[in-house]
Amino acid sequence: MSDVIALAKDLIRRPSVTPLDEGCQTLMAARLERLGFVIEPMVFEDTTNLWARRGTQGPLFCFAGHTDVVPAGPLDKWHTPPFEPTILDGMLYGRGAADMKGSLAAMVVATERFVTANPDHSGSIAFLITSDEEGPFINGTVRVIETLEARDEKIRWCIVGEPSSTALVGDVVKNGRRGSITGDLVVRGVQGHVAYPHLADNPIHRAAPALDELASTVWDQGNAYFPPTSFQIANIQAGTGASNVIPGELHVQFNFRFSTELTDQAIREQVEALLTRHGLDFEIKWTLSGQPFLTDTGELLAAAVGAIESVNGQQPALLTTGGTSDGRFIAPTGAEVIELGPVNATIHKVNECVKAQDLDLLADMYQGVLERLLA
Ligand SMILES: [Zn+2]
Repeated sequence: MSDVIALAKDLIRRPSVTPLDEGCQTLMAARLERLGFVIEPMVFEDTTNLWARRGTQGPLFCFAGHTDVVPAGPLDKWHTPPFEPTILDGMLYGRGAADMKGSLAAMVVATERFVTANPDHSGSIAFLITSDEEGPFINGTVRVIETLEARDEKIRWCIVGEPSSTALVGDVVKNGRRGSITGDLVVRGVQGHVAYPHLADNPIHRAAPALDELASTVWDQGNAYFPPTSFQIANIQAGTGASNVIPGELHVQFNFRFSTELTDQAIREQVEALLTRHGLDFEIKWTLSGQPFLTDTGELLAAAVGAIESVNGQQPALLTTGGTSDGRFIAPTGAEVIELGPVNATIHKVNECVKAQDLDLLADMYQGVLERLLA
């Protein structure tokens, strides 16, 4: 069994459901400390984070990731116990195998190999590891970045190990992410008897044309890296349950995934203007969960494309699709950020798995990036 697989199994064995870490970071820190990393645990409330750095000079290269996993779900649907890593037909099964303990193992082993071969490498290498990525993202990467910013410690290049690949490890590099903003809208009417509509004011009837316009609006056309901005209603609720009551309020929750063609401010203004134009009596609460970012050129992307090509014999596609990642907290500091990790077909599902061999290839790619940037 390779070093990478052995470490991945050790990590999967620890049931670190968000926000628990269950000793995963201690295990990683022990390996890094042996290489000369300075270990700095950063504990905020219920969340354990690890900042580890080797070297004091710039430029600073950082591996970012998370030790927490989503819950296993129904145990009877798993063919093998979720926290007993098992290799079957070349696939490594277990919660976190793909998202993202396999990547963490590949990062550590790649760093061990690189540092052993290049003990006097240029710049610095760091690990920014949280146990809060799958949860409310309050005390994880956000707080670590705040701490680093406060002492002016700047990351130049960052690889987030999220499972970016589609069919073959390294076939896709995520070089940006869409922004995400949620609106919680309350439209007020006047509750009454359905038989006496002139004494009531139905907020569903009032809001329906506005919602229709929101859903049919073309927000932008996207650009070379981003698909067009999408608006989706996620939840809608009104009514008392009785068939003879006009409701007094309508609650709608919707989310935008937006490209770098738009800003959250532009979205807020456009939506509120539309609701006002429809004459609605409304209140809206906005939650911004991430600004869009894009790393479309630069040394990091070139190094990653080169490293992947030398392992796979083909270049990766550069995409910005999919959900958000902690990259959204790191990119605003000015860092070049990309995501490179294993195939994401089974993440968050029962029987999560990853091709065991892919983790070895991923370690080769990570090592190739370090060699290109810091050797
Ligand atoms: Zn993840």
